[in-house]
Amino acid sequence: MKAYDLVIENAAIYTMDANKTMIENGIIGVKDGTISLLEKQSEDFGCQAEKRIDARGMTAFPGFVNTHVHCFQSLLKGLGADRPLISWLNSSVQPFGVRVTHRQQELAALLACLEALKSGCTTLCDFFYTNQDPELADVCVETMKRTGIRCVFMRTFQDYGEEYNVPDCYVEPVEKAIEDVERLRKKFRSDDMLSIWTGPDVTWATTKKGCEAILEYCLDRKVRYTMHLNETQEDNEMCLRHYGKNIVDLLDEIGFLTDQFLAVHCVNLTQNEIKTLAERGVSISHNPAANLYLGSGIAPIPACLQADMNISLGTDGAASNNTTDMLDTMRLAALIHKGVCRDATAMSAEKVVRMATKGGAKALGMEKTIGTLEVGKKADIILFDPGRIRSVPVHDPIATLVYSASAENIHTTIVNGEVVYCNGVFSCGIDEVQLYHQVMSEMRNIGLHD
Ligand SMILES: [Zn+2]
Repeated sequence: MKAYDLVIENAAIYTMDANKTMIENGIIGVKDGTISLLEKQSEDFGCQAEKRIDARGMTAFPGFVNTHVHCFQSLLKGLGADRPLISWLNSSVQPFGVRVTHRQQELAALLACLEALKSGCTTLCDFFYTNQDPELADVCVETMKRTGIRCVFMRTFQDYGEEYNVPDCYVEPVEKAIEDVERLRKKFRSDDMLSIWTGPDVTWATTKKGCEAILEYCLDRKVRYTMHLNETQEDNEMCLRHYGKNIVDLLDEIGFLTDQFLAVHCVNLTQNEIKTLAERGVSISHNPAANLYLGSGIAPIPACLQADMNISLGTDGAASNNTTDMLDTMRLAALIHKGVCRDATAMSAEKVVRMATKGGAKALGMEKTIGTLEVGKKADIILFDPGRIRSVPVHDPIATLVYSASAENIHTTIVNGEVVYCNGVFSCGIDEVQLYHQVMSEMRNIGLHD
């Protein structure tokens, strides 16, 4: 009799594989963090398992992949509300970011990761740029790892910024940034659970020379890279002013547009630019909530999909979203494009679930290990419990997941075969109420609350 570390029985399984395989009453067996059995449940099937979950009435989906977040911003929800990006940055994010302490970074990363796990996210990418104290990055990585979430840590850099009031303490030569990325990569050996990436922050805070140097480093070391791209009009205006070119053209000219590049936002793209990005194999991280919150616009995602681009979803930092809830982002991603296109078929629930799973996996270069439920892939699985007023009755689980679900429907979150969240309890031992009190006490210490 075969032995598994974990067996999930009696679940409806939406694999999200290429054949859209759905098993009405299925069983999943996990060994060493990997799915080694996935089939229809048979009455006489017997197996040994260290842990069994009876998922009767529940639906198993692949865990969500959030490709863009800034963990430290989880302490800034609602601060600087109702302002456009540069004014929002200068009034809330930058003043806090330059003096964030190790303790605050830890609490913020806990908030982001636990909320992510609770809303079905199994892989989270932090886009890190508060580099004034190198140890903050270490605290963030260590805390993310502690929660049991699969992490991609993007240690980005800024080598320019006086025009836009980028704080001096963030600005560093690209060589120093590369040195620190190397330090982190040596200290935290990359494995299936952690990858360390880099990239320039944004056009108006990085130079062409900086982009070229980081590109050379990434291509040489096979490190993937990311950047905020065309989030607002300023991105392109700055580029036109300094280099006389649109940002996409400039990046293409230096060879920056490759399939190792994850472009974040892409709100303002022309049809030609979409064609160029698609031809180069660039993936996009679509962050609809942040783009709406800051009035940046709405990314032309249906056109990007039509051009065969790989699209993933991100929540962005909680300062420009106010949550790190992927279900919330999925719902928005499905709805806004229907509205903008005045066409209910412009986006479907299935396409959105694909962006949140397989699209995210591909955007991170992890499509062979995560993103679908298949034998041989890592066991990143969520169990969706439909038994909530908000989501009942369920006629089509994919539509329910996108349009009616909330985090309270996520019963269990499994990462790499480990149950990291189940029914209100996190396996890392952190209690939600206790965390709430710790965060509020820290906010009082820095004078942000009475
Ligand atoms: Zn961002």
